[in-house]
Amino acid sequence: MRNLCLVLGDQLDAGSALFEGFEPESDRVWMAEVGGEATHVWSTKARIAVFLAGMRHFRQVLHGRGWPLDYLALDEHDFPGLAEALAASLQVHRPQRVLCVCPGEWRLRESLRETVEAAGCEWVEVPDRHFYCDPESFSGWAKGRKTLRLEHFYRWLRRRESVLLDDCEPCGGEWNFDAENRASFGREGPGLLPAPHAFEPDRITRGVIELVEAHFPDHPGTLDDFDWPVNAAQARQALDDFIRRRLPGFGQYQDAMWTREPWLYHSRLSAAMNLKLISPREVVEAAEAAYRAGDAPIAAVEGFIRQVIGWREFVRGVYWLRMPDFAEANVLGADQPLPAFYWTGDTDMACLRDALWQTLRFGYAHHIQRLMVLGLFAQLLGVKPEAIHHWFLAVFVDAVEWVELPNVLGMSQYADGGFMVSKPYVASGNYINRMSNYCGGCRYRYGNATGDDACPFTTLYWDFLERHRDRFSDHPRTALQWKSLARKSDQERDAIARQAKALRERLAE
Ligand code: FAD
Ligand code: SF4
Repeated sequence: MRNLCLVLGDQLDAGSALFEGFEPESDRVWMAEVGGEATHVWSTKARIAVFLAGMRHFRQVLHGRGWPLDYLALDEHDFPGLAEALAASLQVHRPQRVLCVCPGEWRLRESLRETVEAAGCEWVEVPDRHFYCDPESFSGWAKGRKTLRLEHFYRWLRRRESVLLDDCEPCGGEWNFDAENRASFGREGPGLLPAPHAFEPDRITRGVIELVEAHFPDHPGTLDDFDWPVNAAQARQALDDFIRRRLPGFGQYQDAMWTREPWLYHSRLSAAMNLKLISPREVVEAAEAAYRAGDAPIAAVEGFIRQVIGWREFVRGVYWLRMPDFAEANVLGADQPLPAFYWTGDTDMACLRDALWQTLRFGYAHHIQRLMVLGLFAQLLGVKPEAIHHWFLAVFVDAVEWVELPNVLGMSQYADGGFMVSKPYVASGNYINRMSNYCGGCRYRYGNATGDDACPFTTLYWDFLERHRDRFSDHPRTALQWKSLARKSDQERDAIARQAKALRERLAE
């Protein structure tokens, strides 16, 4: 055999460069479902099901082309991991070369490459056309910069790709509409929200749901509400639904949160994009077209495009630039275990309870819930970065390490010491109260740092400032926060430190 072409669970792109020059007489496609990918972090049922359903629908696409395919279904083999499954297939087929688009995870890339080379075959990585910016051009852009900032990268890439530009200048006259994109829903709430299009599981997906229930019965979460897009046609429908019904409200409310409203104006496209069921170019072009047609305001469209062409490409560039050391980063010396309630949602903190409820139920929380509730609490508590990284990788339907790890270790935990963001994203319960209705239904008082009803976020916020005073008090972007700490009396600070210590001890049990 000439080429064995590997398709991994997050590479379901029918137009992939992998298939260029594919010759059915001498080449073969290879896909495998393995339990190890669901258990190396304790994945939610929804995350496992999204990947397996996506893979099984992609198998249909390949069958339609009539190409030779090895598809190792989960219940038809005993290989624990991808490397073992591949090693056995290499013995059978003895290909000259193994072709693959770069895997989305350092660990997997290394283990597959080693397996292929150990079998005496050539490992060939074909270009990944899904992204706007490949790791080489990212490292060219990053060269010579001590710290990397999204805003600089975003403008560079937007110019290079001519996205949302009029005569080489940004549409609407500004590169950044963040100031218009931070509204909350106030006291009135969000009102009637446009519910996203739900994808009723078809026969293939129902089969996957049964399989996941049978093989991973004790994994967290539920599949009762599974309605994610799992093939290219559904991903396009999801995009169309978002552009028509939610994009106009996206910008203004992108940071807002509301109890039992998991979707708000968000796109729900991350899993479809990360599995490559749809390309970010198609997503960005659809958003820009909506602006040009007058169907969505510039602030919403710019805010959305910034996430896709900005953050998404930026974190991928940082991942490949910084791995493998990135995964070990822990500049703040955080060493607490992850509280057990992250796996169950069983907590009396209303904000965390709501964010965990939807995470475990749908495999989804939106950006501010991830950053300013789930990630923030772990950071303030001082949870070991590896523990919170593994949790984030396990629970979300869109979690692939290239995007999850930089967001968690770099953006949310500041574990890399500010290589990726200019300051730690730390806030007290005040922020959560401003951006949501959570605090009104909580047994704690968001303004209190000490006492029985003290908000744990607020206690831990002041404690964080105290613990990391030396590192941040002179920093130009954070000095204000630390100045307000200086206004607290010694007694207040002692009481906060005692309360934080007790909280930490209780949550480590
Ligand atoms: P929308 O709010 O509609 O945003 C549109 C798109 O922009 C998303 O689909 C996504 O592709 C992209 N995007 C937005 N923010 C980011 C970002 N910070 N980094 C990369 N892409 C972004 N995203 C993942 O895809 N997988 C993850 O595992 C993941 N883990 C995260 C962990 C933390 C701690 C944080 C703070 C963010 C994480 N994100 C992750 C980014 C972001 O939260 C999700 O992409 C987004 O919530 C997905 O929902 P959506 O599709 O409705 O996004
Ligand atoms: Fe969360 Fe504190 Fe508000 Fe309760 S009071 S919802 S714990 S921020």
